[in-house]
Amino acid sequence: MKILVVNCGSSSLKYQLFDMTDESVLAKGLVERIGIEGARIKHTKTGMDAVIRNTEISNHKVAFKVVVEALLDDSHGALKSLDELSAVGHRVVHAGEKYAGSVMITQDVIDALEECVPLAPLHNPANLMGIYAVTEALPNIPQVGVFDTAFHQTMPGYAYMYGVPYHYYEKYKVRRYGFHGTSHFYVSRRAAEILGKPVESLNIVTCHMGNGSSIAAVKGGKSVDTSMGFSPLPGVIMGTRSGDVDPLLVSFLSDQEGIDNKAMSHVLNKESGLLGISGVSSDLRDIEEAADAGNQRARLAEDMLYYGVRKYIGSYAAAMGGMDVLVFTAGIGENSGRAREGICTGLEFMGVKLDLEKNNVRGKERIISTDDSRVKVLVVPTDEELVIARDTKKIAMDRN
Ligand code: ADP
Repeated sequence: MKILVVNCGSSSLKYQLFDMTDESVLAKGLVERIGIEGARIKHTKTGMDAVIRNTEISNHKVAFKVVVEALLDDSHGALKSLDELSAVGHRVVHAGEKYAGSVMITQDVIDALEECVPLAPLHNPANLMGIYAVTEALPNIPQVGVFDTAFHQTMPGYAYMYGVPYHYYEKYKVRRYGFHGTSHFYVSRRAAEILGKPVESLNIVTCHMGNGSSIAAVKGGKSVDTSMGFSPLPGVIMGTRSGDVDPLLVSFLSDQEGIDNKAMSHVLNKESGLLGISGVSSDLRDIEEAADAGNQRARLAEDMLYYGVRKYIGSYAAAMGGMDVLVFTAGIGENSGRAREGICTGLEFMGVKLDLEKNNVRGKERIISTDDSRVKVLVVPTDEELVIARDTKKIAMDRN
């Protein structure tokens, strides 16, 4: 059974083709600069060098046609015919309160996702364009939606509500939704598997730290709290996002600077975070280098990141009544031993003991706490595409 996983951004389309008999990746790629000059596809058949093709790609429908051509290509393709493809799984960012799990895409689902566009104005339109593109090219193929928000739908009301008048929740659905759900789901399960314990028996804090970062409290396998909220802005300091700020900063700064809501949201989303504090870069590698060279603002940005994540870990341990497992994933979490050490330093009182030698690891699954550490600390590379492929397989098979 072959399954294609599609992840559309506003000007990009990422894809992975899985053979679900052994969950291997047959091919993967990325279409970039859709609708912009200089569009291209980078396609890699497993075991072969990447092939890059520059071609005009005016929209996501054209992009998907280019992907299909690459997948069917005689030399670097991975399919002889499209009939080999059993289903397509889509990453979709926002499903609001409608779906707490993955679903077969029907017209009702599309309508619900269109309704969620105001909640995720940057992401859902792109995800929907992917669905429309696949529907046009392969009208009879089953399509499954896997949502970033779904895993966090188990949060209790007291965790997801904001202390604003209740009628705003009723009228506009303003509440904490949380994101990166597929990643928090995957790494929490995988950590339990590695430790040989049922996930239902564990209190796990998962730290997904990449360009965007979120921390989640996973109790008995269910998300009970997470640091992102109504939007992906709050929580810990990120590459260019501010993370938590006093909401009154927004009106204060827009008054002082004479800028409107849109410009203010640009400041908070694109000019803040590690970049805004350090003035150096949004990339933690550059920050680490600058801090080592004596740049004090880079050091401050790094310290703010570690301190912020440490506080979330402490508060989520309190929220769950304890913590058994701490998991690091995504670009920073998987690769920066220095960030993991910076975060865990000071958590010894909670039973976290990092093994500094084991912590010297990049992009590999590994337990990095000492044997006598009460809390097990792990690096687990995330694999959102695999979760999407698995859900798609299950839902498409249940249908037959
Ligand atoms: P995204 O959120 O866009 O999917 P990633 O999960 O790929 O991003 O994370 C990207 C970030 O990971 C980079 O901006 C960089 O800060 C960080 N990163 C990657 N490798 C390292 C490393 N070796 N050391 C420190 N940070 C790293």
